[in-house]
Amino acid sequence: MEYSPTIGLEIHVQLATKTKMFCRCDNDAEGKKPNTTVCPLCMGFPGTLPVGNETAIEWGTKTALQLGCKINKFQRFDRKHYFYPDLPKGYQISQFFFPVGEHGKVKVDYLAKDRKTKKEFSVGITRLHLEEDAGKLMHVKDGTLIDFNRCGTPLAEIVTEPDIKSPEEARMFLQELQRIVRGLGISSADMEKGNFRVDANVSVRPKGQKEFGTKVEVKNMNSFKFIEQALKHEIDRQTKILEEGGKVDQETRGWDEKSGTTVSQRGKEGSVDYRYFPEPDLPPIVLTDKQVKDWQKDLPELPSELKKQAEGFGLPYDRVIELQDTGKIKDFINIMKQDKELIKEPLLVANYPGVLVDFYRWAVKEKPSSIILKTVYKAMLIGVSIEEAKKNIKIMGEDEIEKVVKQVIKDNPKVVEQYKAGEIKVLGFLTGQVMAKTKGGAEPALVKQILEKLLTK
Ligand code: ADP
Ligand code: ZN
Ligand code: MG
Repeated sequence: MEYSPTIGLEIHVQLATKTKMFCRCDNDAEGKKPNTTVCPLCMGFPGTLPVGNETAIEWGTKTALQLGCKINKFQRFDRKHYFYPDLPKGYQISQFFFPVGEHGKVKVDYLAKDRKTKKEFSVGITRLHLEEDAGKLMHVKDGTLIDFNRCGTPLAEIVTEPDIKSPEEARMFLQELQRIVRGLGISSADMEKGNFRVDANVSVRPKGQKEFGTKVEVKNMNSFKFIEQALKHEIDRQTKILEEGGKVDQETRGWDEKSGTTVSQRGKEGSVDYRYFPEPDLPPIVLTDKQVKDWQKDLPELPSELKKQAEGFGLPYDRVIELQDTGKIKDFINIMKQDKELIKEPLLVANYPGVLVDFYRWAVKEKPSSIILKTVYKAMLIGVSIEEAKKNIKIMGEDEIEKVVKQVIKDNPKVVEQYKAGEIKVLGFLTGQVMAKTKGGAEPALVKQILEKLLTK
């Protein structure tokens, strides 16, 4: 008997708004001491009243639009009850009945194993809703510490349909989602930092069986690699149980990096246990048609659209993927759009937007002297990075240059006499002599300046 897996994902994206979801505490806790970006509201004190964050609502809606969701113009927050030390109120404010958006779809295209062909699959988006994050527990030797800084951070939770057919597809979908979120500029979507968190639901069933198997939820994976590994392991584990005539328990399991296995954490509670009800302290959100239209207009191109555009300029798909991976696909498109000559040379431009755009950005930012500029440019064209090229430049100080200038004056008494007699143009010759002796390590303008100073003494 052959078995096939089914995967559905739940992703929590931390929104990088200035302030938290329902209070005006600083939402950027990175590098801050525990329990310093908190107030009575986000610490769950009774008697406090939440006030919604407009930017979080805008960003959540934009994300839902970008995922092809139908937007609910009427939204509402609900209370989801559970007890846990990192949730001081005893309930989380979430959206259960009226989420931001529903029924979306993400198309993922990718490079097949032959490294040439383009392949594609799509994943349905069940819903996107907004909610607040909980605090963080830290288990130490003598007990457990709580940091409430993260309490109240806005989260967009994205739930997919069980459309994903392999651990590789799960990884590729998540990478596409990360690009979409980063493209919107609403989150750094960094898995290692915990602002792009993934729970994976996975089941297996005999090939040909219509109904899905019993699903297990896997948590605690903080990299794409671990997600793929955890899913592979979980599929093998469930397959083995079924092969031996057993039954898979519906439960939550945690990925254990050290052993490379999943470990049972708890039986899964049904949604009825949460006793969802409308949050009475917040009015419903009613979006206007104009608001939604304006946000829609404001959306950046999807990663898949960028790829299509790049292909449209005649670039083979494998090179398009390369540009996407190095973050240069937009630069490529911009150059191609602007230049009638370059448009005939997609491969040439694809080879160089990286180096050239990096070079221009660096030059604009650091405004280096022309000698450094030229040296770095030459080095870059033969494949040396800006950083390496900069390290290899010996830049001479004024004192060092002065020594060389004095030597050149001493070695060329006749030319110096000509200069003093008014033949200013010999300065070019003397500058050239200094440049040759310093092997390009001196800035010509500075050399000229020092020469003039010493010659008129
Ligand atoms: P729950 O009620 O346990 O929260 P949902 O039906 O809301 O379950 O689905 C939660 C997630 O699990 C979704 O991402 C969904 O696609 C996925 N999922 C649901 N059933 C299965 C299954 N049999 N196998 C794999 N994933 C599933
Ligand atoms: Zn607060
Ligand atoms: Mg559910």
